[in-house]
Amino acid sequence: MPLEPARLKNMIAAAAERIIGSADELTALDQAIGDGDHGINMKRGCAEILGNLDAIAAKPTGEALKAVGMALVMKVGGASGPLYGSLFIAMGKELGDRPAAMALLPEVFGAGVSAVAARGKSAVGEKTMLDVLTPVLDATRAGGPGLAARIREAAAHGSAATIPMRATKGRAAFLGERSVGHMDPGARSSQIIVETLLSFLDERT
Ligand code: ADP
Ligand code: MG
Repeated sequence: MPLEPARLKNMIAAAAERIIGSADELTALDQAIGDGDHGINMKRGCAEILGNLDAIAAKPTGEALKAVGMALVMKVGGASGPLYGSLFIAMGKELGDRPAAMALLPEVFGAGVSAVAARGKSAVGEKTMLDVLTPVLDATRAGGPGLAARIREAAAHGSAATIPMRATKGRAAFLGERSVGHMDPGARSSQIIVETLLSFLDERT
């Protein structure tokens, strides 16, 4: 089933609204192991996306993904802006002018996750958004029945797994051992985005 503009618009809006609604939670997480701006940063980027929603959703899906990424790069700031920006821009480039299809998800999302790892010079296990994005990618690659539930579980497990981790990348790495015992804010925001987008996948699987 192709991704019609109305559906794409709903998906982008839902994810942006859910992140804006989670700003306080994300900021509280970043207060514990960072500088307390992750919620504010993400809220600013998502407000920009919502402000340009009609123009973004009118584009072919690949271009829309790039536009989302550009808005995040320009408006989120911090470490997470360029990282989330890379995720969506790389996904848009990988999709190109092909119509979005579930069968392309592992390839397209894989390109996005690789771009985050390259830009962040980071990998799974370092207490970052990659601790959610990587297991989610693994789940999408595995495919099969019950995919949405398994992706949801991978995202929840991934964010929870950052709690006992010691950060070795980003601001939290400055805390060393004191970063242990807190969920990584970027892992949580990634989980929220994945969960929100999954509610659209649920209807199809
Ligand atoms: P800043 O750390 O500059 O204040 P944010 O608070 O908006 O930016 O984002 C912090 C989040 O960015 C972290 O919780 C982590 O998930 C993610 N992050 C930071 N550095 C990296 C990195 N090198 N690789 C992957 N993710 C990172
Ligand atoms: Mg911060």
